[in-house]
Amino acid sequence: MNGAGAARPAYLDNAATTAVDPRVAAAMAECLTGEGAYGNPSSTTHAYGHEAAARVEAARAEVAALVGARPAEIVFTSGATEASNLAILGTARANADRRRHLVTARTEHRATLDPMRRLEREGFAVTWLAADRDGRIAPDAVRAALRPDTLLVSIMQVNNETGAVQDIAAIGAACRAAGALLHSDLAQGVGKLPTLFAGQVDFASFTAHKIHGPKGIGALYVAAAARPWIAPIVFGGGQERGLRSGTLPTHQIAGFGRACALARAEGTADAARMAGLRAALWRNLSEMPGVLPNSPLADGSPAILNVSFEGVEGESLVTALEEIAVSTGSACSSASGEPSYVLRALGRSTELAQGSLRFSLGRFTTATDIERAGDAVRRAVTRLRGIAP
Ligand SMILES: *Cc1c(COP(=O)(O)O)cnc(C)c1O
Repeated sequence: MNGAGAARPAYLDNAATTAVDPRVAAAMAECLTGEGAYGNPSSTTHAYGHEAAARVEAARAEVAALVGARPAEIVFTSGATEASNLAILGTARANADRRRHLVTARTEHRATLDPMRRLEREGFAVTWLAADRDGRIAPDAVRAALRPDTLLVSIMQVNNETGAVQDIAAIGAACRAAGALLHSDLAQGVGKLPTLFAGQVDFASFTAHKIHGPKGIGALYVAAAARPWIAPIVFGGGQERGLRSGTLPTHQIAGFGRACALARAEGTADAARMAGLRAALWRNLSEMPGVLPNSPLADGSPAILNVSFEGVEGESLVTALEEIAVSTGSACSSASGEPSYVLRALGRSTELAQGSLRFSLGRFTTATDIERAGDAVRRAVTRLRGIAP
């Protein structure tokens, strides 16, 4: 965790939310070492199984409550990646003989883009929508893309690189009017912005580690009315009403449930505090010339501030910044060294996309972290600009 005077770098990387809340860790530990919650939740013949099943169902109710769903509409998966794969591949393959058109945006997470590309190779038609300079997808653009054979639209609520927020309610209304299904990746939205979309979306992806829960657990919301449209992509023991086979990881699920309960109780206050810190960070950074926001400052997610620095390489900046843990773009694209496809899709030049940093804020981010980060970045940018050829 972060803190004033800590020897470790201030943590502002890939959703600072990946720091596990100690209260979540406690809920998980109870299932590993506790009085019998280590049973297999599918074993209904003894008390150990019953105890584990009770924990799983309590957690399912917490996840459902966070998004206004019914518990039976929550399918546990290994995270948002698997949830989005299930929503996209699971509906496409179940309906390939009826409808073969899909709609998404170029700025989506890879967990959506890659299954879509896979389906293109399998003969589906995909319409790739463009975002405006602020990263927004116009609901009218979605409406215009819909065809009689459109099966599924997939548009995320909050972009993980820029924090741009989409109007999911309006996009959902357009889809419903045209008889198309809507999937939304809510991984960056839940716990920070209102996400009571039950009734407006048919499928929604979540992951626990973006709300201070453990990695490796998430869920797909499957609206009861949409259940006939989706089929499993993993086969086996038939858990999760046949939609996701495999033994349920009780400790992971209990941690996810606790994280959701905390997000429901504290998310609004967390978000308000993060919005203040994000504004302070922007004020500090924008005192320098040549600093351009890639995040919508007025209405973007309070958890993300993405900034480009003219005349500076993002990678050199990250290396120079020993006092803070931060990255350029997403964890996935920064591994490849390619400039962010999201920033490129918003019309940023290769240079500006490469000269960008993404700051993530979470429940444990402090004013001291923000001050340290802002000052360190300004020093590093000034120094790197001084030695640039
Ligand atoms: C983190 C993230 C994912 C992937 O979540 P996993 O837990 O790695 O599966 C998907 N979509 C968005 C928007 C994310 O931020």
